[in-house]
Amino acid sequence: MAKFFLRKKAGDRVINGHPWIFGNELGDSEGAFEAGDIVDVYSYNGSFVGKGYINPASQIRIRLISRDKNEVIDDRFFFNRIKEAWQYRQSIGYVENCRLIFGEADGLPALIIDKFNDYFVIQTLALGIDKWKPAIVSALTEIFSPKGIYERNDVPVRELEGMPQQKGYLSAPFDTNIILNENGLKFHVDIVNGQKTGYFLDQQDNRRAIQHIVKGADVLEAFCYTGTFSMHAAHYGATKVLGLDISENAVATARRNAELNGFQDICKFEAVNAFDVLKQWVKDGKRYDVVMLDPPAFTKSRENIQKAITGYKEINLRGMKLTKPGGFLVTASCTNLVPPDMFLKTIEMAAKDAKRKIRQVTWQTQASDHPILWHVPTTQYLKFLIVQVL
Ligand code: SAH
Repeated sequence: MAKFFLRKKAGDRVINGHPWIFGNELGDSEGAFEAGDIVDVYSYNGSFVGKGYINPASQIRIRLISRDKNEVIDDRFFFNRIKEAWQYRQSIGYVENCRLIFGEADGLPALIIDKFNDYFVIQTLALGIDKWKPAIVSALTEIFSPKGIYERNDVPVRELEGMPQQKGYLSAPFDTNIILNENGLKFHVDIVNGQKTGYFLDQQDNRRAIQHIVKGADVLEAFCYTGTFSMHAAHYGATKVLGLDISENAVATARRNAELNGFQDICKFEAVNAFDVLKQWVKDGKRYDVVMLDPPAFTKSRENIQKAITGYKEINLRGMKLTKPGGFLVTASCTNLVPPDMFLKTIEMAAKDAKRKIRQVTWQTQASDHPILWHVPTTQYLKFLIVQVL
């Protein structure tokens, strides 16, 4: 196995537990290797640091998967990691659906596995983990006897690793339009054509957080995707709900979800650009008891953080203006590069510009099946806030 030595100047980040090693942190190396192989990493003075997969084509040159010199990285290793991750999810209360593997947070960098009851959707986002796909599939088969496994590797980040975008079955073909249960509701999930892995599990705990503020309310949800928050609003007693999304597909599914749950008279959906519509409705003087906003990530690059902040400010400013005095704004941000304090500052600026005072009700993050490792700050990405708009 090839050996790599960290540079003396490389910081303590890796030594202290962060799994990523960038190209400029590596010094000497010994032995031959191929892209995607497991290699050993040592500190500059020769003490063992860990083993991980290497990809010379990637800026993140090595991703560590073990700190144990004697650990053998084979099919069993992946089986054990996946089993542990499932036991952990169960121990914190997940039964049917969960993000089973959340990459770095589960010691399997660049691997995502979502469990939608008996169905599994996988993303292998680095070459090193992609090579282990057969082992991962056989581990899932052994642990869960799934009804289907599907790969949603149609994501641009794969190209940074020199891999093609692709999607397809990793098990025998199956009906990829499935239904999952969440908080007593049912949702259609289109595994092949849905966004990301098909369903946003990261908001599943947050959807419960609107329970008390929507009773008898007239609710507006912008960026509603398949209407998951809207459906929860109706379930918790809202009398009228309007969901907006730019995707015709998402809106069609949202309508089917409303029917599936018997809320077709309460929940209506429109395929529109929320930025334009919200702007117009502010002008028109429309008002709602509750406004919910969950826009897509506004940037994936550092250069555009300021643009993202402006986007968040604008949309939340409009959201507040559309909220009746004493009503509630439910707002989220999934942009990894916007840390929680920056998001809160943005909301504060929006309130100032809207000339409204806000009172905090709920401030939380992604569902706990997306664990946050304190020594890997990027594992926290979702911000979720409910405020009363006075
Ligand atoms: N809250 C949803 C997830 C929302 S994801 C859930 O928990 O399931 C963000 C959504 O915003 C996507 O469905 C995307 O289609 C939509 N979107 C992106 N740009 C938009 C725009 N300009 N107007 C309306 N919707 C938009």
